Amino acid sequence: MTKVLVTGATGFIASHTILALVNKGYEVRGTARSASKAEKLNATLSAYAGKPVEIELVSADLTSDEGWDAAMDGVTYLQHLASPIPNNLPRDPNDLIIPAREGALRALRAAKAAGVKRAVMTSSFASIAYGWGDSRPDVLDESHWSNPDNLKDNTAYTRSKVIAEKAAWDYIEGDGKGLELAVINPVAVLGPAMSGDVSASLELVTQPMENKVPAFPKLTFGIVDVRDVALAHVAAMEKPEAAGERFILGDKVLSFTEIGAILREAYPDRKLPKGELPNWLVRMLTVVNPTLKQIVPELGKHRSFNNEKSQRVLGIDYIPAKDAILASTNSLIDLGEL
Ligand code: NAP
Repeated sequence: MTKVLVTGATGFIASHTILALVNKGYEVRGTARSASKAEKLNATLSAYAGKPVEIELVSADLTSDEGWDAAMDGVTYLQHLASPIPNNLPRDPNDLIIPAREGALRALRAAKAAGVKRAVMTSSFASIAYGWGDSRPDVLDESHWSNPDNLKDNTAYTRSKVIAEKAAWDYIEGDGKGLELAVINPVAVLGPAMSGDVSASLELVTQPMENKVPAFPKLTFGIVDVRDVALAHVAAMEKPEAAGERFILGDKVLSFTEIGAILREAYPDRKLPKGELPNWLVRMLTVVNPTLKQIVPELGKHRSFNNEKSQRVLGIDYIPAKDAILASTNSLIDLGEL
């Protein structure tokens, strides 16, 4: 059986990617900061899949050299998804940037040393669409790169993603030559959660469903379903023509107000926020709700993208954004989290 190493195996996107790999007959080894999560992870994967799923889980931390070489033993493909994606931004941006960049390099170096054929790395649309200021193209594609030095149009998270992706490509063009790389650049990822321990991106539905915002900030989000993101990771690993390429993954852009309208229509019995929040009020609310700090640079911005390449090369036939939103919410309700 062909073995695939999935880093950050306990994560939202990684869990779906693991199932997509297992369903195609791959043997999966995962990494987590603590291998003691194995039992819980396998129970979660099995419950979601409706059949027994058992993967091996080993310890590897993005911030330490320990464990990476052993994790790569016997592996043909690397899926590198681990990266800090916090609910609240840290005071020091390096708390995100260093693990993201150094962790990617640790994983790629170990993959190269082990003779891995191809690495797929989960970057983000954050590596494409940020730091442009007034010069941002109307429609962004894979030829575009974010500028991490323009702090007014970035968060520590968006900077961490572009800095890590650049470091990965530099490595592949230098000491890592011979190891193939394909990069996935998803917009905000929604879709079914397998457990209550969910990625920060699901706050797009949990914040309004829990009525945590008085009204909707003037924000727009590209949305993609996690099931499409998982299939894209597998296709980027298998398709010869995906090597050396980056792929934007996204169905379409919706405003937060439109997301709210979808939720209000689907859950008429719930008390949900209504109307739009003026930008000045959002800035003030960051004092009581620090999660909102991440979105301040986003207010009033619209970052459009072209997803043609992911359809053409990876064969993605997008699940509509509305279905991704409702799948997130329904899964969290079923799990007793909402
Ligand atoms: P998630 O559920 O929070 O998963 C992140 C994973 O990273 C966790 O499993 C965590 O593993 C691991 N991790 C964090 N810090 C680590 C460290 N120092 N050492 C080792 N592992 C560490 O998030 P996700 O949404 O699935 O994100 C997966 C990837 O997709 C990330 O690279 C993220 O940047 C990218 N992405 C996400 C979105 C989105 O909207 N969700 C959009 C674009 C790109 P443990 O805590 O178990 O060790």
